[in-house]
Amino acid sequence: MQKINNKPPIANGENKGKGIFLLLSILSLLLVVFLMFGLWYLIAPRLGSFHPYFSLAVKIFLGLCLITISGGLFLIVLSALTERDFLFPHGEKQITLTVLFPINLILGRFFGLPKDQIRQSFVAVNNSLFKATRKRISPERILILLSHCLQDYDCPQKVTADYRNCRMCGKCQICQIIELGDNYSTPLSIATGGTLARKVVVERKPTVIVAVACERDLTAGIQDVYPIPVYGILNQRPFGPCINTKVDLKEIEKAIGLILNGRQ
Ligand code: SF4
Repeated sequence: MQKINNKPPIANGENKGKGIFLLLSILSLLLVVFLMFGLWYLIAPRLGSFHPYFSLAVKIFLGLCLITISGGLFLIVLSALTERDFLFPHGEKQITLTVLFPINLILGRFFGLPKDQIRQSFVAVNNSLFKATRKRISPERILILLSHCLQDYDCPQKVTADYRNCRMCGKCQICQIIELGDNYSTPLSIATGGTLARKVVVERKPTVIVAVACERDLTAGIQDVYPIPVYGILNQRPFGPCINTKVDLKEIEKAIGLILNGRQ
């Protein structure tokens, strides 16, 4: 099979990787503030004509939205850069990221940044927040969740139904990951897509997930399973997308060590 030169993903958790998403988030927040003021400027005279208190109520609502989003972003930036838990007791990073993530993608396109680069940066930010909040993460039920494309393309074994169907032949990394999971008594699951991955999460009810996938699946998955914390590991694609992908096994071991012992 011919190898395709694929740019390696940003190493998980590196500061240089986090910068893109954090900077875009700050720009997105400024854009949201600008749009809110513009909206207020347009509708304020009409609101006052309905009832004086109505105008005040809308003003308070918009103000609270801005405080929540900007306060959340400030804590996220601080926690992501220092990897210390400034999100406690707030903890609700989701509102801020849900609002800002799609705007980040639009702004990224405006600046000519590839979507996958922004997603890689999002995963790096997510992993830093994971490290920052690790003392609050329960290691009770760890699940290693793998994308199906790690399996050798020609392998007939139905490892998505049960990973124990793997014959441990060594042609792909699935057997090494199974051995790694067994060493730590950590179960794993291999999913063909987002729907199956969500089903597995609902059934297994993990308290924390170590996920291996591409940029798109990881960013969607991290947001889908919230509030379950996810440590994301980007796969490597020497043969192009979705076929015979690879993963740095040390990254999986590092993630499990981080969860179990707080090591890095
Ligand atoms: S290691 Fe397992 S999944 Fe990979 S090719 Fe061999 S039998 Fe198939």
